[in-house]
Amino acid sequence: MVVVRLKAGREKALLRGHPWIFSGAVGDIELGESDFKPGDTVKVEDSSGKFLAWGAYSPSSQIRVRVWSTNFDDVIDKNFLHKRLARAINLRERMIDPSSTNAFRLVHAESDGLPGVIVDRYGDILVLQCLSSGAEFWRRTLVDSLIEITGCERIYERSDAEVRSLEGLPPRSGPILGGNGFDSIIVQELGLKYFVDIQNGQKTGFYLDQRLNRSLVRKLAAEKAVLDCFSYTGGFSISALTGGADKVVSVESSKGALDLHQKNLDLNSCSTDQNIMVQGDVFKVLRTFRDRGDGFDLIILDPPKFAPTTAHAQRAARGYKDINLLALKLLNPDGILVTFSCSGGVDEALFQKILAGAALDANVDAKIVTRLQPGPDHPIALNFPEGSYLKGFVLQV
Ligand code: SAH
Repeated sequence: MVVVRLKAGREKALLRGHPWIFSGAVGDIELGESDFKPGDTVKVEDSSGKFLAWGAYSPSSQIRVRVWSTNFDDVIDKNFLHKRLARAINLRERMIDPSSTNAFRLVHAESDGLPGVIVDRYGDILVLQCLSSGAEFWRRTLVDSLIEITGCERIYERSDAEVRSLEGLPPRSGPILGGNGFDSIIVQELGLKYFVDIQNGQKTGFYLDQRLNRSLVRKLAAEKAVLDCFSYTGGFSISALTGGADKVVSVESSKGALDLHQKNLDLNSCSTDQNIMVQGDVFKVLRTFRDRGDGFDLIILDPPKFAPTTAHAQRAARGYKDINLLALKLLNPDGILVTFSCSGGVDEALFQKILAGAALDANVDAKIVTRLQPGPDHPIALNFPEGSYLKGFVLQV
């Protein structure tokens, strides 16, 4: 067994339950067996040699160890991982009504005690992402357990997220189980249907974390002129249209996403005339709208992450302020802005501050009507604040 001994005093975060050990906290490493591979289990001790945790070792990542368990008696093996998976999946069974949606997140990584492991369910298909060395090490075991627990016969892998490179892992994607049937998947969500491209779409194909927020937009949209920025495959736009919006303008840079958006309009029998799609850069398009004097009653801003970590927070803050300022100016009196940040490096307090600055510069009085977060299939471990990446506000001016 490889032993990772922390520097004196560097066990504090771990003792508070945080699952990451950064390279800077690592003191000595006692190498054990010679066939030790990245992602293999190590024993973590404090500087005096006292047991702290079992974790997965990642030699190239700044996050050198991701903790599996702080219980000395745990053995990190198939049985351990199986129980963690079963527990995560059981939570969804209790929280998600399968008659309302058949697309949701089954496993949310660190927050489900499975660092680096994401599993999304799209009907009878599972999509797996292994984003850390530990997840990669146990990939086959995880797949076997997922098959046992869910009975799913089709599993697709999307371990091609950029964060894999930080772990020294190459991107990998493709079928794991079941060779076909991965094209043209249609999912149900709260009475609506969406095509999901699990093979080439963003993340695992769909923004499952916005399900409840899409349904909120549906409720707010009746008879409104709506602007949906960063519209991807049309989730918010179609929600607004089916909620009775007068017209929806959708702005998105990706041609592939807009093509799927068009198909999703047809799938939900939405009138194409009421949905104007603009392929372009939101930062530029909003300026054009402003210069033209356009106005909207409801605006949605759901940009990609501008700040993966706090190190990028400053530049990200400028980006968020810019688009929110423009959106606030485009709002008609009594208009509503539904605005999100999915940057791990920008917490809710900072995001609120950025919005306050944007309102000040836009010369509008705005108030927070509601705070938004993902649904219960994206739980957030209390000792892992990084898990609360998506935050949103409903503002009224
Ligand atoms: N609201 C969507 C998810 C948005 S994800 C949903 O609920 O499904 C962010 C989207 O912004 C992606 O589709 C990406 O292609 C697009 N995007 C990124 N930068 C952009 C830019 N500068 N202008 C327009 N679209 C952009």
